[in-house]
Amino acid sequence: MELRFFNTLERRLMPFESLTPGAAKMYTCGPTVYNFAHIGNFRAYVFEDILRRTLEYFGYAVTQVMNLTDVDDKTIRDSRAAGLPLREFTAKYKEAFFSDIRTLKIEPAEVYPAATDHIPEMIALIRTLMDRGFAYQAADKCVYFSIDKCRDYGKLARIDRENQRDGVRISTDEYAKDAVGDFALWKAWDEADGDVFWESPWGRGRPGWHIECSAMSMKYLGESFDIHTGGVDNMFPHHEDEIAQSESATGKKWVNYWLHCEHLMVDGMKMSKSLGNFYTLRDLAAKGWRGREIRWVLAGAHYRKKLNFTLDALAQARETLGRFDALFDRLRGIAAAGDGAETAALVAGARDAFAAALADDLNVAPALAAAFELSRHANRLADEGRLSRAGADAVLACFRDFDRVIGCFEVDAERGAETFPAEVVALAEARAEARKAKNFAESDRLRDELTKLGFAVKDIPGGKWELKKL
Ligand code: AMP
Ligand code: ZN
Repeated sequence: MELRFFNTLERRLMPFESLTPGAAKMYTCGPTVYNFAHIGNFRAYVFEDILRRTLEYFGYAVTQVMNLTDVDDKTIRDSRAAGLPLREFTAKYKEAFFSDIRTLKIEPAEVYPAATDHIPEMIALIRTLMDRGFAYQAADKCVYFSIDKCRDYGKLARIDRENQRDGVRISTDEYAKDAVGDFALWKAWDEADGDVFWESPWGRGRPGWHIECSAMSMKYLGESFDIHTGGVDNMFPHHEDEIAQSESATGKKWVNYWLHCEHLMVDGMKMSKSLGNFYTLRDLAAKGWRGREIRWVLAGAHYRKKLNFTLDALAQARETLGRFDALFDRLRGIAAAGDGAETAALVAGARDAFAAALADDLNVAPALAAAFELSRHANRLADEGRLSRAGADAVLACFRDFDRVIGCFEVDAERGAETFPAEVVALAEARAEARKAKNFAESDRLRDELTKLGFAVKDIPGGKWELKKL
């Protein structure tokens, strides 16, 4: 089955072909560690996780790099406000980030390079850009990238080059589309930076935000790689500037596929720190919500559509996941003999539908619809007493497989009633035999014995039975 992604660079769906067959290399812009990430940020990271897991599901060996921005305008500003050295200040938020991704069952990337550990690589890249005539040091001592020298600057964000203002220089990390201009690669030290600076051929200073991603991605993934992702707000200026720097330095195409996820919204506005309309994972955990419920909500919508966040959606997630839990518990209690033929076609159909949906630009909703449908069928077969142990195992195996991508199903979790001791199963089997032989005194005695052990046995059509913990 062919994987297809919507490539922002070309604004169209394209079949995915990696540079090395069977391997996928991707760079995902990571957190700026000046605060706890909010669940809007985590929408982007969950989307990237679904992408990573889908690639793995389709057999790719994935190498993912996610940077930690631990020096920029915001980290410096807030560490100084907190009266802490930059490294100490950001360490707390790095740790919180790793704890949060565990809560959300986000698979770890292969490398999490921190910007402050890669200053020499950034200086080397800026030097190359200087040597090749793409960068210059201005009177303010900052080093800027000259967008005039870069023929296709604006190709990702589709910037209107005609209306660009000449001679504009921007030294802040983030700026709007109408402020297009030469952007800072190296920022000369000023008082607001305090003790945060590195020596460079251009004097004391620190790198700009964009150069960090170019330098670290190429260090770990090579001068050309397969996929680069982020939220839509990263497209300009961040990703545009990353492309300009990287391709001007190497003369090669840098990234083949760009994938951007839409925003998580609250009441029609982007969830963001500056608007104050955000929840962190900790806020939601304090209200009793679990990581897998939050993940279910974030992962359930198509990544290219805006998603409105509500607590109601979390309540629905809890109910839905509870129904899946009940199915898994039930399937584990099935003991009837049989070869599983009753589920073979259902499971095969569900697997095909699931894979086809994900292959189609990570279309999670129809993939989950395949899971819902399989669950309905399995429950129906069990109600009718037509589900065998082998059939139940096939359904469970299928959900285990789906969970390689979805990451919310707890197929094998201990929930109390789901595992039955061998002696309990033996008693239930003996009771069924006694009933079959119409020895009701014995079957009642065995039922009482099960009750004493804390288990109820329920007869279902076809001479079959189910166990439940009392
Ligand atoms: P930042 O720490 O602001 O650089 O953001 C980290 C990641 O989260 C980036 O990929 C952003 O595009 C993404 N992001 C920020 N806010 C949202 C949001 N409300 N919805 C989805 N992604 C977001
Ligand atoms: Zn980046």
